[in-house]
Amino acid sequence: MKKIGMLGGMSWESTHTYYKLINEEVKSKLGGLHSAKIILSSVDFDEIEKLQHLGDWDKLAQILAEEAKSIEAAQADFLIICTNTMHKVAPIIEKNINIPILHIADATAYQLQDDGIKKVALLGTRFTMNQDFYKQRVIDNFGIDVVVPNDEEQTLIHDIIYQELCLGKVEDNSREVYKKIIKRLEVEEGVEAVILGCTEIAMLIEKSDVDISIYDTTQLHASAAVKKALLA
Ligand code: GLU
Repeated sequence: MKKIGMLGGMSWESTHTYYKLINEEVKSKLGGLHSAKIILSSVDFDEIEKLQHLGDWDKLAQILAEEAKSIEAAQADFLIICTNTMHKVAPIIEKNINIPILHIADATAYQLQDDGIKKVALLGTRFTMNQDFYKQRVIDNFGIDVVVPNDEEQTLIHDIIYQELCLGKVEDNSREVYKKIIKRLEVEEGVEAVILGCTEIAMLIEKSDVDISIYDTTQLHASAAVKKALLA
């Protein structure tokens, strides 16, 4: 079994979910007392969040690259960055290490492609919804049309992530906000599915909340990591 390197803490709420999902899947695949081989480096999200909102992506890249180097030094075979947003700096992290990065957008898009999805909505932080590092990768490499919420909806989605979900708060009102946005994207934009493109959104939205398919990036990324770890 390969050793999975996890760069987490963004937020720890979802890193905790990753850890559980990865171990559950290894257990279900190998049985008995099997569990995953993991090296976890978990950052202080307060520092990360402040730099994100200041737009200091160079400093963020530097911090995460240092963490990634320590994960590599601890003998991980490959790296997963346990957040969609911070994949913005994945190309810089990649340059600083010799082990591969299993990209969260690829893990998600392979599943969309397998399921024949042609047009999908992307919910996540404003950084993920607005910028090209994530959606353009799905469009260019997988030929899937990616639709993002309008400006007002993006603000609501973004604020709920940082002010509630990353703090472990799951509010019914916020679930309704997300459901309404997903419904509008389904009816007005004709999306066939929605990417939960922030690793905390599955704390709020599950399959039964919406009429279209959901693609939970935490679950898909964790599952892809197990698959890679168990490849001979
Ligand atoms: N976990 C989130 C994501 O998947 C948001 C927190 C962050 O900014 O890293 O994008």
